[in-house]
Amino acid sequence: MPIDVTALVEQARAGRARAVARLISLVEEESPHLRAVAEELAPLTGRARVLGLTGAPGVGKSTATSALISAFRARGARIGVLAIDPTSPFSGGALLGDRIRMHDHATDPEVFIRSMATRGHLGGLALATPQALRVLDAAGCDVILIETVGVGQSEVDIVSLADTTLVLLAPGMGDGIQAAKAGILEIADIFVVNKSDRDGAEQTARDLKNMISLSRKEITGPRWRPPVVSTVASTAAGIDDLMSALDAHHDWLTTHGELETRRTRRAAGEIEAIALATLRSRFTHHGADTLTHLAKQVVAGHLDPYTAADRLLSP
Ligand code: GDP
Repeated sequence: MPIDVTALVEQARAGRARAVARLISLVEEESPHLRAVAEELAPLTGRARVLGLTGAPGVGKSTATSALISAFRARGARIGVLAIDPTSPFSGGALLGDRIRMHDHATDPEVFIRSMATRGHLGGLALATPQALRVLDAAGCDVILIETVGVGQSEVDIVSLADTTLVLLAPGMGDGIQAAKAGILEIADIFVVNKSDRDGAEQTARDLKNMISLSRKEITGPRWRPPVVSTVASTAAGIDDLMSALDAHHDWLTTHGELETRRTRRAAGEIEAIALATLRSRFTHHGADTLTHLAKQVVAGHLDPYTAADRLLSP
């Protein structure tokens, strides 16, 4: 079916949910229209603040996301949410939230919620997520929240996508130690100790602060000391503090040129992902010199692996 890309992008720009959903579907399907879409989107992007939110299952990511949506909506912002689930083989498809805790916002025309999953295609999310981000950005979202499970387990590197990375923890489970092990000290711009209504929350916050002050000693150059914010996402307690921390980090990013640095790094990652995918597609569609064909020749001793690689890469 022919697609009028220009019209679709125009409708998305006007904030029409169906057009936004359709464009994200094109991204997920790796549609041949993607190039045209990307070209039309490019001049419309660069405005949105991108926030990444990560943490172990059950710490309260969806609940916190919902509370943050409310807080940003109170400021009149248009919001996009990408809920990334690397463990689920199905895509959410529909734009409006299938996530129960975000249902509060399901009828708000200024909130776009989309879940994304791998569709069993390795590398698919890494490619699709930044493009989905562009769609939401072009659709006039002031803030885009990317929510993903876990740290270091995800195919999607939230840190490279977000301007600000929030790491959520909950008291108990020796979280502080787990945090250090998982390397989250390096990635978090803001720590959120959620479920602060539970026992041990203060201890978790204290442990984190100690670890932060120990780990940051050697850092030179512009430094940001990640704050530890305590919240009860289910009642929105502490969300004001979290909003203040987000604003402070945004100010810090802009004053120190860090926003530009991070966004350049994001674009570099996007280009690399697209280039690698293009290259990889040649492995299976490259005339006689497909990877399998070359591999057979290497096994037979007719070709050395270096020459084979050169052939694979030759235009
Ligand atoms: P996710 O898996 O990280 O997205 O976590 P959810 O947002 O789905 O929350 C997991 C459970 O914790 C749900 O039953 C929430 O209602 C509950 N929850 C979320 N935040 C809080 C909180 O601050 N305090 C308490 N006591 N429960 C919370």
